[in-house]
Amino acid sequence: VPVSEEAMHDALQKVFGFKGFRPNQREVVRALLDGRDVFAVMPTGGGKSLCYQLPAVLLPGTCMVISPLIALMKDQVDGARANGIRAAYLNSSLSLADRRKVLDELESGSLDLLYVAPERFALDSFRKLIGKVPVSMAVIDEAHCISEWGHDFRPDYLQLSSLVTMFRDVPVAGFTATATQRVQLDTLRRLALREPFTVRASFDRPNLTYSVLFKDGVDAQIVSLLRAHSGKAGIIYRTSRKSVNDTAAMLQAKGFRALAYHAGLGDEERERNQNAFIRDEVDVIVATIAFGMGIDKSNIRFVIHADMPKSIENYYQETGRAGRDGEPAHCTLLFSQGDQAKLRFFIDTMEDEGEKARALEALRKVASFASSGVCRRKALLNYFGEQYSKENCGSCDVCLGHFKSVDCTVEAQILLSAIARTDERFGAAHIVDVVVGSKNRKVKECGHDRIKTYGVGKGKDKKFWRQLIDELLAQNVIAKAEGLYPVLMLCEKAVGVLRGETTVSMALEVVAKSAAGTAA
Ligand code: ADP
Ligand code: ZN
Repeated sequence: VPVSEEAMHDALQKVFGFKGFRPNQREVVRALLDGRDVFAVMPTGGGKSLCYQLPAVLLPGTCMVISPLIALMKDQVDGARANGIRAAYLNSSLSLADRRKVLDELESGSLDLLYVAPERFALDSFRKLIGKVPVSMAVIDEAHCISEWGHDFRPDYLQLSSLVTMFRDVPVAGFTATATQRVQLDTLRRLALREPFTVRASFDRPNLTYSVLFKDGVDAQIVSLLRAHSGKAGIIYRTSRKSVNDTAAMLQAKGFRALAYHAGLGDEERERNQNAFIRDEVDVIVATIAFGMGIDKSNIRFVIHADMPKSIENYYQETGRAGRDGEPAHCTLLFSQGDQAKLRFFIDTMEDEGEKARALEALRKVASFASSGVCRRKALLNYFGEQYSKENCGSCDVCLGHFKSVDCTVEAQILLSAIARTDERFGAAHIVDVVVGSKNRKVKECGHDRIKTYGVGKGKDKKFWRQLIDELLAQNVIAKAEGLYPVLMLCEKAVGVLRGETTVSMALEVVAKSAAGTAA
């Protein structure tokens, strides 16, 4: 019996308590009710769960959902149960007795929805059982985990390509929030869905504002951003466990309600900190990227990347955790060229050459995102192969005019000359000291207070000079030799700049501090 439009709406309101569908939900639900395979790419917060939970309620039999997120299964099931859906999950965290109970429920046909971990699905005993019970459809959550191109490939997922042969008579649906075209195509190919109904939602998150700030004195920058978002929930991402701990301790000492989260903490502490954040007992979680996959907190008002993310994809996913409730939220990236060096250090330890090359390319794309003057939203969407048609998005630092491009050719010449006159043997801090005329000992001992460029840049502060060095690095006018001490050297382009044949301009912040916090 075909399910009517009324029955669909009725269930949407009565079971889920929602007034209407979000974009694409109705179409996906319809396709599944009609027995079609589905492949849906929808951003985080787009409402993927409803797409299969609603048909699960309306169709006879059990909807089997394969999900890699063990931590999230319980929440999903609790949520579904709270809506009166007969739901359960099977994974390694259950006791033998609980597992038995779920299997009994499955066998007796009293489940609408069953979440299973991929390794459980791989078991022969489980496959036999699921082959015997009426199944309404098979759903693969986080379907991109089947692709080796993706950032969270799971070997366990490879066997899911057999789903379509196992379930000949019911739909198989893949859902993912991962946006790159390559991963999407690869995922589709591997799942071998049968002429699936395919949706690809826009990845635009209109309620998110994006800003990039030149990273300089990161602690003070974090504190000022937090003040701008006072009392609001937010995530601060850092690369290393040590910097997570240090930042969390620094914030606690200043009286902020902040906790740390990384894979080096014990399970118990990690879970406690995560829960405290989810329950609004603290405002801020300082975390490595281990945090977030599968946390469902809708009122996150800001995400700060205090270190450079590994890829645009990571950046999009991590910032995507903000504003899931649709209310405005702010994403701030603190960036300097120096951060690339730190991540390169990790990349150098990779053994697979192909993997290494991909990681470097991903990093280069983040650097170019951060240092280009293009609308951040447009740049992000273009990365995912989506066109953004508006000239001005109205909610990124570039479009809001937080920057103005300033000609800095003369200042660049001062820096280049200081680098040349000190024989390309010193790092950024020393060069800045020379240019601003610092009286520090090292400058004197080297006799650098006697060179021609000493002190000629004292009209501008150190931050300006550090930022200009960053810009010259980004434009390949100078390079950094990574030895025991990182040393600045001139590149070919420097000759043109020194001769005045090539000009240098730089985007300078024009609004008062905390660009990201203005709307808070
Ligand atoms: P995803 O899995 O795509 O990240 P979820 O399924 O977790 O997204 O949904 C995100 C949030 O949106 C949840 O809080 C959910 O209750 C809510 N939601 C989903 N569909 C609707 C709808 N049609 N109307 C209102 N809220 C919805
Ligand atoms: Zn913009």
